[in-house]
Amino acid sequence: MTKLKQLLRAAQGDLPITVRHERWMSSNPNPIYSEKALEFAQQALQRNVGGSRKRARLFRASGMARCPRSRMFTYLGMPKRLDIDSQLAGIFSMGEFIHLRWQMAGITEGWLVSPEVPVESPEIMLGGTMDGVLYDNSGFELKSINSHGYRRVMDFGPKEEHLLQVHAYMIMRKEVSDRFSIVYENKDTSEWREFRVTYDQVIAQKAMNEIESLISNYTSNTLPPMLSSCETKEGYIWRGCEFRDICPSASWPESTDGGV
Ligand code: SF4
Repeated sequence: MTKLKQLLRAAQGDLPITVRHERWMSSNPNPIYSEKALEFAQQALQRNVGGSRKRARLFRASGMARCPRSRMFTYLGMPKRLDIDSQLAGIFSMGEFIHLRWQMAGITEGWLVSPEVPVESPEIMLGGTMDGVLYDNSGFELKSINSHGYRRVMDFGPKEEHLLQVHAYMIMRKEVSDRFSIVYENKDTSEWREFRVTYDQVIAQKAMNEIESLISNYTSNTLPPMLSSCETKEGYIWRGCEFRDICPSASWPESTDGGV
């Protein structure tokens, strides 16, 4: 999307990041960051901010719409595969730095009031860390995505898993704000677009159904079944799963200390 189109969209609607970020980037092509932003970056790289603190045992909002069996393995602390290759490690690292760049810009310009904000609702076994809180108290979530995915988002709007994720956050902070901004950045071209999401009862119910199903599995000591797509031990979900080595023969662990 061109800069002009971006600004026209922002002028027509409620897009709290777009105009400010666009203006700041245009006047800071070689960004100079504030002390506060530099301090945040240092802490983030030292794994010393909200999202990196010791987490309570909760189902994470960032796992919405993912394989429930894998989410339960994560919750139970089951062992993950260790053989992450350098390419995958590089992809994780690039995503982390794209987040950092946006958060540092937002802190410096002022549209981002707090980066890496933890939210928890232990009564529904749900928690997570938002990418940030904006100046109007709404939430901020950044998604870096390749060109193919970016085109789909431009055509059809935010991905369902991301709508469920931000609704999970909004369920946990419903007293604070019922709005969220999701920014998608095309990591191949650096194009970006902000989508404003307002709390939707139907999507929120879908998110709650997912959580309730996991709670039901947990309280009955039952692992959710394998995805049918993984039964043949093929496909991108299977290949990308960090639990694939233990998944087919896994059973409920004898000790689940730390749960509810
Ligand atoms: S291997 Fe497939 S079914 Fe098993 S946990 Fe991973 S994604 Fe889920």
